Amino acid sequence: MKKSINLFKNIIFSNFRRLSSPYKVTFALTYKCNLRCKICNIWKSQSLGEVTVLEIEKIFKKIPELNWVDLTGGEVTLRENSLDVVKVIIRNSEKLSIFHISSNGQLSDKLIPLVEVILKTGVIPVVNISIDGPKGINDELRGGTDTYVKSIETFNSLKKLRKGHYHLSCTISNYNINYIDELLADLSRDVSRFSYSDIHFNVFHNSPHYYNNEGIDGLSGLDLGILKTYLGLRKKGSLFKKIIEDKYVKGVFVYLKTGKVRAVKCQALNSSCFINPQGMVYPCLIYNQTMGNLRDQDYDISRLWNSPDVFMVHGKIKEKACPDCWGACEAFSSILGDINGSLKMA
Ligand code: SF4
Ligand code: SF4
Repeated sequence: MKKSINLFKNIIFSNFRRLSSPYKVTFALTYKCNLRCKICNIWKSQSLGEVTVLEIEKIFKKIPELNWVDLTGGEVTLRENSLDVVKVIIRNSEKLSIFHISSNGQLSDKLIPLVEVILKTGVIPVVNISIDGPKGINDELRGGTDTYVKSIETFNSLKKLRKGHYHLSCTISNYNINYIDELLADLSRDVSRFSYSDIHFNVFHNSPHYYNNEGIDGLSGLDLGILKTYLGLRKKGSLFKKIIEDKYVKGVFVYLKTGKVRAVKCQALNSSCFINPQGMVYPCLIYNQTMGNLRDQDYDISRLWNSPDVFMVHGKIKEKACPDCWGACEAFSSILGDINGSLKMA
C-alpha cells in the first residue's frame, strides 16, 4: 500500500515538476534474442560488455524514487542470470511497485520462475508476451518455429498464476495488419478464457539505438480505418483503463496523421529514462541521444540526471525537438504525467 501511494505521489508530482530521480526506468537487460523478427534488428546489436549482476546492484541501489521498472531485451530470459537480476533489482529498490517484463514467450520454463519471484515479494508483475499474427504468419514474421504455440503456452501458464497482470502484445505494422482478424480467431480458440482485454495492440516505431531498424518501413500504406478498429479493442476493462487507453489510441492517430504528438508532454528525462545493456543512458527507446555511461559515473544515475547535458536534452524534449513519438513504452507515463495535456487530446 505504501509503495502504491509513493507511485501515485510521483505520478502527481511529475505533472508539475521534474523529479529528483526517475520513478520509471526501462532497462534492456540484453540484446540477445532467439527470434529474428522482420520489424526489429535488436538481435544484430552489440551483446558484449553487458553490465554484470554486481553492476546492476550498484545501479539500482542509487535510483531512490524508482517505483516502476520495465525489463526488456532482446529476450530477457536469454540472460543466463536473469533470476539473480530480478532479485537484485527488487532487493535494492525499496519503493518498487510495478515490475514490467517484455518477453517473446519462447522460454516459458525460464520466464515463469522470474514472475514467481516477483510475486513472492509483493511487487506487482506486469508481463507482456509478444505475438504478431496467427500461427503460420507469426512464425514467418518472427523468424522462428512454433513461435505462436510457445507464446500461447507461456501466456496460458501466466494466466494460471494467482496475481499480476498478463497480456499478449501485438505490434501492428503493414506486415501484419491484414492478419489481425485471423489472429483474434486463433486466440479465441487457443487462449484459456480469452477476452479482448488479454491483448494489447501497439504500433510500429523506428529506433536506431534500440530496435536497430532504421530503413525498415512498417507504416506505409497502413489503413487507419482498420487500425482504429483494432486499437479500439484496447478500450475494454475498468473506467480508469478505458480513459487511459482512449488517450493512447487518440495519440496514435495524431502521430500517424501528423508524425508528431504535440498535445502531451513526454515524461522522458522528466520522470523516466532508458538504460541499455552496457549501462548507457538514453531519454527513451526512440530518441538516439546518449546521456553517458553509468560505469563512468560510479553507477549513480543522479549524477547524470542532474548534469547540464541532461538538462539541455530535457529542454530539447520539452521543445519537441526529439522524434516526438508515441511509443507505448513512454506513452502511458506521459498520459499520467500530463493530465492537463491528455484531457485536451480530442
Ligand atoms: S521484436 Fe523482440 S523477439 Fe523480435 S527480434 Fe526484436 S527483440 Fe527479438
Ligand atoms: S516524445 Fe518519444 S522520442 Fe521524444 S523523448 Fe519522448 S519517448 Fe522519446
